[in-house]
Amino acid sequence: MIELKNVKKKFGNNEVLHDVSLSVNDGEVVVLLGPSGSGKTTFLRCINFLERADAGILKFDEEEIDLKRAKKKQILDIRRNSAFVFQNYGLFNNKTALQNIMEGLVVVQKRSKKEARKIALDSLEWVGLKDKADYYPSQLSGGQQQRVGIARAVALNPKFILFDEPTSALDPELVGETLSVIKKVAKKGITMIIVTHEMSFAQEVADRVIFMDGGVVVEEGAPDEVFYKPKEERTKKFLARIL
Ligand code: ADP
Repeated sequence: MIELKNVKKKFGNNEVLHDVSLSVNDGEVVVLLGPSGSGKTTFLRCINFLERADAGILKFDEEEIDLKRAKKKQILDIRRNSAFVFQNYGLFNNKTALQNIMEGLVVVQKRSKKEARKIALDSLEWVGLKDKADYYPSQLSGGQQQRVGIARAVALNPKFILFDEPTSALDPELVGETLSVIKKVAKKGITMIIVTHEMSFAQEVADRVIFMDGGVVVEEGAPDEVFYKPKEERTKKFLARIL
């Protein structure tokens, strides 16, 4: 469904993605794991052009897009079919929860305000926040803000969702509510790529785990294989540190 081939990205002289390839099947949940600075977030951001890769191909829906030379129309096409959940929620602070969700529905998907409002309210209800529709981000806890972020992603009915460390900015007691909403998204059968350090969550939700280190994919497999029978020395070292 989504295929990335030979993705490279440099910041100045610092090449942070050397040659990363990844295929994700329809409905698959892939977790990207690895030490801080290994290029996970950059890779995720290259997929929907929040960063422009220096090389690589993205295949999506039978279309092959050159990541470096992608045209505006191709970028819009990817953005229309995908959603991104940010580490710091990425909500507009001057808009209510409801308005945050309506924005993409009205501006990108060109829906009427009435229709967008209905979808947004349904989506808020789905994450358990219908009663907070008229609250501004500053009036919500971090966990609630992230649930709005997830509701906004799901409301767009995307073909795939990219999650960039969705719980790492949260206080520990708010992580659980957010992870359980992400599990609900996974149950909908939406294709997802998730960068996370939450190992037990990864084990529960992932069909496949990709371990990245130093800008390359070191190892991949089913969660049980990668967590309990890692083959590569670098994976073993990383797991020993965090498990
Ligand atoms: P991870 O998500 O695995 O922690 P990142 O993709 O965030 O890794 O970062 C990989 C490397 O790229 C790091 O060395 C980081 O400092 C660098 N990097 C990320 N974004 C930028 C940027 N906008 N400008 C310069 N360097 C960056």
